[in-house]
Amino acid sequence: MVRAVPAFGWGYPASGGRGLSYKEIADTARDQSHHHLDSCGHCASAHDFEAELRQVIASRCVDRAPECLRRRILDALGEDPR
Ligand SMILES: [Zn+2]
Repeated sequence: MVRAVPAFGWGYPASGGRGLSYKEIADTARDQSHHHLDSCGHCASAHDFEAELRQVIASRCVDRAPECLRRRILDALGEDPR
């Protein structure tokens, strides 16, 4: 298992100085964030706004590069156009 480097593990509040792995730290931070969002309307509102904004951007920003540009880039990368 990969362990957090000491400076990160000791300094990151979620680790509690226990040298947790990055995944353990990420899981703990996620759990703490969810717990906070459940009890803080201000942050929950900001979170919901950002989640909705990300969905809108993901759904609307689906432009495809012009075919001539795609071909030039793929040629430069040595790949066949799809
Ligand atoms: Zn909050």
